[in-house]
Amino acid sequence: MNPLTEHEIRSAFVNCTKGEASRLNVPRDLADRPWDDLDFLGWRDPQAPDRAYLAAELDGRPVAVALRSSGAASWQARRSICSLCVTTHTGGVSLLVAPLAGKAGKQGNSVGAYMCSDLACSLYVRGRKDVGTRLHESLTVEEKIGRTVANLTAFVAKVTA
Ligand SMILES: [Zn+2]
Repeated sequence: MNPLTEHEIRSAFVNCTKGEASRLNVPRDLADRPWDDLDFLGWRDPQAPDRAYLAAELDGRPVAVALRSSGAASWQARRSICSLCVTTHTGGVSLLVAPLAGKAGKQGNSVGAYMCSDLACSLYVRGRKDVGTRLHESLTVEEKIGRTVANLTAFVAKVTA
């Protein structure tokens, strides 16, 4: 993906207030991120580990989504599959919940999805980050990337619907 600036990321949040978007922690090492190998940038707030964020460029526009871990149960050490990149981890998948954009979110509505806890889906798909066990799939890396982007697009569509 194209590198995003801090300003672009903060301006792209679809499901939090402008104030929240201006205060939340954006990674300080944006210039050093492996953008060429990223389908989206995902990170956790180092000061509030239950908060996670992702930023992507969909249809040529930056989109960012604020997420929260949905409590202890999702951290159980059992094998789970990330709904974005379809990587199987033992204990490395979290149920992350995104408030819906706009009025629906203010009324407390949200959508959840199991995702790699470190949000490094792009690197797992490309084999740049290893997991203990890997599902044997006959897909090429390109096909897995396409699937990850499609899953991410579908998730963002649910948040902004
Ligand atoms: Zn993943």
